[in-house]
Amino acid sequence: MDFLLTDEQKMIAETARKIGDHFGLDYWRTHDSEKAFPGEFWAAVCKAGLCGVALPEEFGGAGLGMLEMALIVETLSASGGGSTVGQLFMINPIFGGVSIAKFGTPRMKRELLPKIISGEINCCMALTEPDAGSNSLEIKTFATGRGNGWRLNGRKIWITGADVAKKMLVIARTTKVEEVKRRTDGLSMFLVDVERLGLTYAPIEKLGTNTLSSCNIFFEDVEVDADELVGSLDGGWYQLLDVLNTERIVTTSGLVGAADLAFRIAIGYAKERRVFGNRPISAYQSLQFPFAQAYAEIECAKLMNYKAASLFDCGRAYATEANIGKLIAAQAASSGIEHAMQTMGGMGYAKETHLERLWRDARLFRFAPVSEQMILNFIATQNLGLPRSY
Ligand SMILES: Cc1cc2nc3c(=O)[nH]c(=O)nc-3n(C[C@H](O)[C@H](O)[C@H](O)COP(=O)(O)OP(=O)(O)OC[C@H]3O[C@@H](n4cnc5c(N)ncnc54)[C@H](O)[C@@H]3O)c2cc1C
Repeated sequence: MDFLLTDEQKMIAETARKIGDHFGLDYWRTHDSEKAFPGEFWAAVCKAGLCGVALPEEFGGAGLGMLEMALIVETLSASGGGSTVGQLFMINPIFGGVSIAKFGTPRMKRELLPKIISGEINCCMALTEPDAGSNSLEIKTFATGRGNGWRLNGRKIWITGADVAKKMLVIARTTKVEEVKRRTDGLSMFLVDVERLGLTYAPIEKLGTNTLSSCNIFFEDVEVDADELVGSLDGGWYQLLDVLNTERIVTTSGLVGAADLAFRIAIGYAKERRVFGNRPISAYQSLQFPFAQAYAEIECAKLMNYKAASLFDCGRAYATEANIGKLIAAQAASSGIEHAMQTMGGMGYAKETHLERLWRDARLFRFAPVSEQMILNFIATQNLGLPRSY
């Protein structure tokens, strides 16, 4: 077991740090308040080859792995972007890149991977539905076979980045749940154009992660071509899980970076701030312990995340590690950033100190992309052999 980073990994993280520092905190504050996609940032990330770090070399990627991607997200997040940087990596190299690289057709790989890697196009992924929620096997969006292709009808909710995406990975039923042996059968993945007749979207007003909108999506008789199927017909569920579990890895990295950033801001302030006499508020144990506790938890989450990423890179099962990392990171980042705000008193509430953005954004990840209760359900049943409670 080797816990040391290679020189190449350090160099990649350093490249990410330079890009992150170039944009800095005010870039993100402005884009957050304008609810604007961080296009210049993403272009710089792609230009430096960081979007394609884990994607195959023959399509313009670096052919490295998820561990390198985790390091990049962590660093970019800590440089100013906060946890929402993980979402940028989710929608593009993961929902677009990993799904196509692992399960796409040769044409999809040839035509789309280079464009995703260069940042020419953005992607998004549509799984969640208003009536199914965490119970993803109950989704109702249906692709009815028609000629060589399908016709898609249904509704999705919270689809991040749909308004800036060219391609959407849609998860739909292709066989009714009543007609399959196991509920996990009968689901398929399709990669469709966002701008297509019958597909409409509308952004949802939300608390944070404002640089990426999240949308309601409606499919009304959307035509899907035969060659837009990703992976196997009716067998998409387990392929989707492979994609979704890498999503946990970048989520954790974004949270680890966000906590690091928030701690630096708040601790820097606390070392200077004097309220009673000449001692800085950083000297008070009541302010120190919550930082120390969150730091310890974040370090554990980071290590578990590296393990998940390394297992993925070796082609081994990694779902448990990816979920545990995300569970702990989301809780520790939420409570740690909350404490960072508390430490700064009124100034933690001011936009200019950036903490309120980091706090709003990090809060999301306690229930998305998978809620902490669903992760605990997973651990209870899969790792501890306990009966399903629902
Ligand atoms: C900003 C944002 C961006 C998102 N982006 C995307 C995206 O790009 N693509 C996409 O497909 N989805 C996306 N989502 C959806 C996200 O994955 C879901 O919100 C999440 O999975 C939870 O589902 P839900 O909101 O329907 O909550 P529900 O499933 O309704 O759950 C509500 C509460 O009940 C709890 N609960 C439910 N079932 C159980 C159980 N069996 N045991 C214990 N507790 C339970 C949950 O843990 C949760 O606390 C996004 C959501 C948000 C808010």
